[in-house]
Amino acid sequence: AFLDRIAAVDGEIKAFTTVDAEGALAQAAEVDAKLKAGEELSPLAGVPIAVKDLFVTKGLRTTASSKMLEEWIPPYDGTIVERVRAAGLPILGKTNLDEFAMGSSTEYSAFGATKNPWDTDRIPGGSGGGSSAAVAAKMAPLALGTDTGGSIRQPGAVTGTFGGKPTYGSNSRYGVIAFSSSLDTPGPVTRTVLDGALLNEVISGHDPKDSTSIPQDVRPVADAAREGSGGDLSGVTLGVVKEFAEGSAQGAEPGVIEAYQAGVEQLVKLGATVKEISAPHFAYALPTYYLIAPSEASSNLARYDSVRYGLRVGDDGDNSLEQVMSKTREAGFGPEVKRRIILGTYALSAGYIDQFYGQAQKVRTLIKRDFEAAFAEVDALVSPTTPFIAFPFGSRTADPYQMYLSDLYTIPSNLYGGPAVSVPAGLSEGMPVGLQVMGPVMRDEVCYRVAAALE
Ligand code: GLN
Repeated sequence: AFLDRIAAVDGEIKAFTTVDAEGALAQAAEVDAKLKAGEELSPLAGVPIAVKDLFVTKGLRTTASSKMLEEWIPPYDGTIVERVRAAGLPILGKTNLDEFAMGSSTEYSAFGATKNPWDTDRIPGGSGGGSSAAVAAKMAPLALGTDTGGSIRQPGAVTGTFGGKPTYGSNSRYGVIAFSSSLDTPGPVTRTVLDGALLNEVISGHDPKDSTSIPQDVRPVADAAREGSGGDLSGVTLGVVKEFAEGSAQGAEPGVIEAYQAGVEQLVKLGATVKEISAPHFAYALPTYYLIAPSEASSNLARYDSVRYGLRVGDDGDNSLEQVMSKTREAGFGPEVKRRIILGTYALSAGYIDQFYGQAQKVRTLIKRDFEAAFAEVDALVSPTTPFIAFPFGSRTADPYQMYLSDLYTIPSNLYGGPAVSVPAGLSEGMPVGLQVMGPVMRDEVCYRVAAALE
């Protein structure tokens, strides 16, 4: 049924970079056989899933939506994909993203943008717009995303779906194409909070193949989602960050603020106590991210050198090795990826590293301290997920800063490493608005409980 749905609507939405009908049906048949043989199956066995094209999938083309990897067929599965397969979730295909996950609209995909199913003149968010659009358009019941600065939550918010960024290090990065290694966090993209929780329980848990993986078991979040959907939040203290609430000054739309405030009122009705909290360094989160993420990206993307992976241009005997590398990177990377590499290389260069990268690391620590102080007083923080609803195509590509503002509220939790989820919280101008719940490091269950109560 989901493959039929993809065939019917994806010509217009363009959520998928690759559809693997044959593979999905074969995996479904396997689950069926196990079921008939009376084998014990995982709770999500047989439920199909769409996978962001940043996850490495054995035998299935993996592009990062870049010309650099357009023809790359990986020889292995990453840990999360391995776990998804082991749990019997048939993989429907790979979903579109901004090239190497850099962007907020999928307009930077080398293969063209994905459309928002709510209004096809508008963006589906990014970078994981393909996964969220696939779920929103009912082409997949579940999807996988990655969140470096908001790429699970912001697409979730603007497509009316659920998106969960877990605690950094609780979901393995092994076999997820690297963008910014100290921030990258894989997680679930689903229609409901409980679906997200169940999927996260399939994929999370320690992985010795990822050096930053936390040596702890799967985070139990499904029970928290079930508890939350009972609608009782008595005893829960939520914080509203004063500096976030001053959002309108930073361009947050009044319709978004209204839907968010209605969400907060609902949470209070359900028994939560709300308190104002200050995060004095919030204003520095966006600039800090745009030094750290490009710096790490410039280093991670050095591997696309025309030798080890993917594209190779100009290897015709007339060019030196250096020229082949340079021509390959010129042709293989799009403009936003090049912008980040140049920014990152500059911020890391001798003579500037202390002023830029080093300084950003220090500010990251100050932001982390702000949030640690906040979580000493409250169980979770709430905010709008994004300052604005899905915008029309082309309206934010001329000025990179306008695009970067999409992640104003999502970036802080990547910087402090804690869990954060986005749950649908009404409409503005007929388009979905998301409410974000941020939790302390390793307390993912709090986010799921609060989000499920609101749903
Ligand atoms: N939009 C942000 C960026 O462009 C975040 C991307 C992400 O989370 N992968 O970097």
